[in-house]
Amino acid sequence: MRLDRLYQSRQKPDISIELFPPKTPEGISKLFETVERLKAVNPVFFSVTFGAGGSTRDLTIDLCRKLKESSGVEVMCHLNIVGQSREETTANLQKIKASGIYNLLALRGDPPQDQPNFKPHPDGFDSSYQLVEEAGKDPWFSIGVSGFPEIHPDAKGNRADDIAYLKKKVDAGACVIFTQLFLDNRFFFEFLDFVRKAGISVPVIPGILPILSAAQIRRFTALCGSTIPADVAKNLEKYETDDAGAAEYGVELATRQCSELLKSGVPGLHFYALNRDASVRKILTNLRLKTE
Ligand SMILES: Cc1cc2nc3c(=O)[nH]c(=O)nc-3n(C[C@H](O)[C@H](O)[C@H](O)COP(=O)(O)OP(=O)(O)OC[C@H]3O[C@@H](n4cnc5c(N)ncnc54)[C@H](O)[C@@H]3O)c2cc1C
Repeated sequence: MRLDRLYQSRQKPDISIELFPPKTPEGISKLFETVERLKAVNPVFFSVTFGAGGSTRDLTIDLCRKLKESSGVEVMCHLNIVGQSREETTANLQKIKASGIYNLLALRGDPPQDQPNFKPHPDGFDSSYQLVEEAGKDPWFSIGVSGFPEIHPDAKGNRADDIAYLKKKVDAGACVIFTQLFLDNRFFFEFLDFVRKAGISVPVIPGILPILSAAQIRRFTALCGSTIPADVAKNLEKYETDDAGAAEYGVELATRQCSELLKSGVPGLHFYALNRDASVRKILTNLRLKTE
């Protein structure tokens, strides 16, 4: 189903699952096994991230196409503009369309971390709202964008600027917002309040990352600027060298987060699954949202 038709049901939240493209054929076949298990949670779509560095970019669109064909589940293709010319970006949009994919997550992206001398493409789009505008010229696409409950680091703590930019992306044609990960729902509720007060009325879907290990969540939050609340940090200390224990704790935490979010009326949950299925399945079983 297209993004603009999702998130209408008041009875049941729409569950989506974000994956990343593995770099090896073995990784890809393992991912397809994971996807088979994830189908048990009845996702409305799988989404596939688009690499910042170039090496995995071609994999994303191909993986989206194969996922849609083989799993029978809808997909959303992520696309960023960093380091690419306008021609490359429009060629990517055409390739996505030719692959039969209409759901698009339009992103700016970040310069690759391993390229300290990275320079923006002189003939590229420089803002994600321009990508929304470009893709939106073709009604084929149904477009989502990112949102930041804890304010994007580039906005340097200025909530009003961050929300004004988000509005620009929605006014350019985006029909849904998927949020960055957050480990305290208060960030989401506060953000949603600002979003609605700014007159943005599209669905806002919380991004949930089930913790897999203490090291992993510290790395991820440092990268995206999300906070590890004090109680979570204290709990993680117990699992420094126990990834299985950290993952169990991650399931418990995410279950509590999702339960509260659903009670508040969110129309969907977007899981950063990191190509794993166990935690997402357990969380949805806990929430009684799994179909088997
Ligand atoms: C759900 C989700 C999925 C993601 N998937 C991927 C992925 O597949 N590949 C990937 O590389 N990255 C991905 N990211 C991360 C993303 O690349 C980073 O958030 C990046 O730092 C910015 O790109 P953006 O499109 O999210 O932000 P944008 O919204 O384009 O910009 C981030 C912030 O910068 C400021 N800003 C940017 N441009 C302007 C402007 N012209 N004027 C004023 N302010 C501006 C605003 O405060 C804005 O909120 C994802 C993020 C989320 C939340």
